[in-house]
Amino acid sequence: MEREIREFPSPHYREYRLAKVDTVIIHYISAINIDKDNPFDTNKILDLLTKPIKFGSTAVKVSAHYLITREGVVYRLVDEKHVSWHSGTSQMPDGRKIRDSVNDFSIGIELEGGDWIEFTNDQYECLIKLLKSIVIKYNVGQDFILGHCDVAPGRKQDPGKQFDWDRVLTKVFSPVEPAAANKLTIIPKKTDEPEVKPIDITDGRDIIDETSPANNKTVWNKLINFLTGLFNTK
Ligand SMILES: [Zn+2]
Repeated sequence: MEREIREFPSPHYREYRLAKVDTVIIHYISAINIDKDNPFDTNKILDLLTKPIKFGSTAVKVSAHYLITREGVVYRLVDEKHVSWHSGTSQMPDGRKIRDSVNDFSIGIELEGGDWIEFTNDQYECLIKLLKSIVIKYNVGQDFILGHCDVAPGRKQDPGKQFDWDRVLTKVFSPVEPAAANKLTIIPKKTDEPEVKPIDITDGRDIIDETSPANNKTVWNKLINFLTGLFNTK
């Protein structure tokens, strides 16, 4: 089946990676904290990933590179070349981290889901295609496709007990299917955007606030230019 990626840009990212991508983190997300009767309202979930979430007097910003809906629609929220804010405080099983997180060297994929419900076949089909393209592009090893629970143990549970790791990894690393069959067509965001609604939830989401003064544009760009010079080995 032909699959598409819909662009739905989130402003929640940092422009420059401090390391090459070698990891993919799988998450689940729902809107259950704001609408328990309709936890997979995609517009509300997109709001969570594109607009500040208020926690009392503070607001946090989260995102991911991709969101895969229950129906198998893939949204691209952040360009892979940028750092999306999907894992918060986290580290690899061997302790590796940058700025207290795995975000700098990972791609984050959110699936609409929760511990109480199975992921859909459409979601698995999309995820496998997406993962195949990422694995080929960045030469990601099987041990570097991890759950949020693996990089934030004790704090995070996603993608949870419903997620079928065998099904996904077997397919992604199967040599049988040609890579060309896994092309995902990117279609641009529609101009008739859904109405913007304020979000105010009080619990549930973790999150690292990357809006600290360290992200001051001028200072940050100077630092990045310096580091880029250091790391540019070509
Ligand atoms: Zn997560």
